[in-house]
Amino acid sequence: MANTAGKFGPYPAPALTAPLRGTNTARLPARAPVRQQTGAELIRSRIALQVRLGVLAPGERLPDTGVIAEELGMSEMTVRRALETMCQDGLLDRRRGRVGGTFVAPNWDAIVDAFRDEEQAASLEDFHLLLECGLVARSADELPTAWDSGLQAVVDEMNATGDHAELLRLEACFHLGLAEALGQGMAGEEVADLLGRLCLLAPVPDAARLQEANKQHADLLAALELGRLDAAVGAVKAHRVMGV
Ligand SMILES: [Zn+2]
Repeated sequence: MANTAGKFGPYPAPALTAPLRGTNTARLPARAPVRQQTGAELIRSRIALQVRLGVLAPGERLPDTGVIAEELGMSEMTVRRALETMCQDGLLDRRRGRVGGTFVAPNWDAIVDAFRDEEQAASLEDFHLLLECGLVARSADELPTAWDSGLQAVVDEMNATGDHAELLRLEACFHLGLAEALGQGMAGEEVADLLGRLCLLAPVPDAARLQEANKQHADLLAALELGRLDAAVGAVKAHRVMGV
């Protein structure tokens, strides 16, 4: 049939975009799409990740905008605007004077609680799962010789501590370390961005849940070491079920 709209469209919608009859779409929750972050959002998520990792503490002064701009490869203008928005949201404090600067809000955790968005967080966690399954599948049979990269030490530390903040820090460390170890420099940044966004959006798991989920970290490492792809992917998926 001739397309009367011309060579470059618009084309009629493909039949598959119509609702599928006989499938239970009600069981599939509507998820917000994981879209590209703006520069300002990326700065926001990186600061959130640094707070989670203990690199920045609530009440602590941020590095100068020039330093942040250089570290993230962004313009100082973008950094200044991002920090300005974060000040307006209460996540950061700006103080004038000789000891002035931009500081992490002393009540960071309470402020962040106001930004939780479970629907967005669920989408990001799904995307994180997709990335980790891909990394694991790609690496299962060909781990670099020194691949461990301290991941077992993170698992051991999580087993040894009951401190909530420390468990949260180690939880992020494990997944950053995994992306670095398996991603060959391609996935570390992506996972850092995702984890930073999750620090702002996802509900915070309690200490018991983090320790429970650490079992899947151990299972994953064991499976990778044995080259057991099915078990490795199973551990990643089971971990997602834990909601961490
Ligand atoms: Zn984990």
